[in-house]
Amino acid sequence: MFLDDFAEFAASAKRARVYPAIREISGPSSDPFVNINGQQLLSFSSNNYLGLAQNNELKAAAKRGIDEYGVGPASARLMSGNLDVYERLEKRTAEFLGYEDAIVFSSGYMANVGTISALVAPPYAGMFPFFERSHPVSIISDELNHASIIDGCRLSKGAKLIFRHNDCDDLLRVLKENPHGNKLIIVDGVYSMDGDLAPLGKIIELAREYDAAVMVDDAHGTGVLGEEGKGTFEHFGLEPHDVDILMGTYVKAFGSVGGFVCARAGLIDYLKVSARSYVFSVCVPPSCAEATIKAIDLIEANPEIRAELWNNTYYLRSKLQELGFNTLQSETPIVPLLVGDEEEGIRLESELCRQGILAPCIRWPAVEKGKSRLRLSLMATHTEVQIDCLLGALKGLMKVEKSSTG
Ligand code: PMP
Repeated sequence: MFLDDFAEFAASAKRARVYPAIREISGPSSDPFVNINGQQLLSFSSNNYLGLAQNNELKAAAKRGIDEYGVGPASARLMSGNLDVYERLEKRTAEFLGYEDAIVFSSGYMANVGTISALVAPPYAGMFPFFERSHPVSIISDELNHASIIDGCRLSKGAKLIFRHNDCDDLLRVLKENPHGNKLIIVDGVYSMDGDLAPLGKIIELAREYDAAVMVDDAHGTGVLGEEGKGTFEHFGLEPHDVDILMGTYVKAFGSVGGFVCARAGLIDYLKVSARSYVFSVCVPPSCAEATIKAIDLIEANPEIRAELWNNTYYLRSKLQELGFNTLQSETPIVPLLVGDEEEGIRLESELCRQGILAPCIRWPAVEKGKSRLRLSLMATHTEVQIDCLLGALKGLMKVEKSSTG
């Protein structure tokens, strides 16, 4: 039976040692230390950038949320009504980021697939005569955009035009070749496997010149970048209205769970009846929404948490570069350490693990073949001693490398 082939695929991948080990963690996965099979590992694999997933005020807010609302939301919002805590979270998110309104989804993935498909394949085409002009829409997408953007495009079945990663000349080529019709440029603010930033200023300038709209997935930027933590647009000195649609997730800097989109109020109203992942799926547990509201309060009131994260980032990156590692174009707390060969990447990961350090090797299909890397991500809660420990281990492995090859 054909289903057996899939099981055989998994078994073969395991035998070929290309099936990724999905580790079982007991206790928190977002602390600097994680417990795997009874071994304490120093982790550089969490996107809990500000350490808020373990914050006591967030935990207390989540507990209050459970007491007030119970555990699960039970049904989708269009079906049985919207909980007031979701309304508060949407307002708070929009206010924090400087937008008119926001919509909250169960995850960042859902936010992207729901929003992109609602814009590119509108469910109510033909309902009003003026609505005809809003489609078709061509998506212009950076080649390294996150999988949830790619899947949003796939669901939309619209034209997808790809430009080379962070290459504004190539973006210009695409815009020139497609001067007419509706265009939506979509980029990540921070690229999750490379840690580099989209050149947002230039992208927005080109978008305005060629009458295209701009959507930014700032999953790794919100809470992390910019003076007030508003993300990549703030980092580049841009204003919220420069980015027409801002998407993000609460699972990283906010330490909680859920995804959101910020935009003009009318567009958010449209998404609430058109984004199928909103209409036909539930929201995050209300307790998580309460925790996220607390996270926004803390991010606003405590810029020193972000400063800690950046101190750690500069420290690790500069030391790695001194040691001669290639950290690609990273400018953020995501610090890739390019290895190239997949087998070697896996070997380094397991050697580090043996030495008590968790530093995941990322390889195809998450990144291009031959560009496997250790993806190190930093948190405000890491200490310099812990980073030194990682550096010491990497230095030792490099020596082994040199002596075994030389
Ligand atoms: N966009 C980017 C750039 C991401 O890295 C991720 C993965 N966390 C997502 C979207 C999806 O977010 P979530 O995990 O909340 O579904």
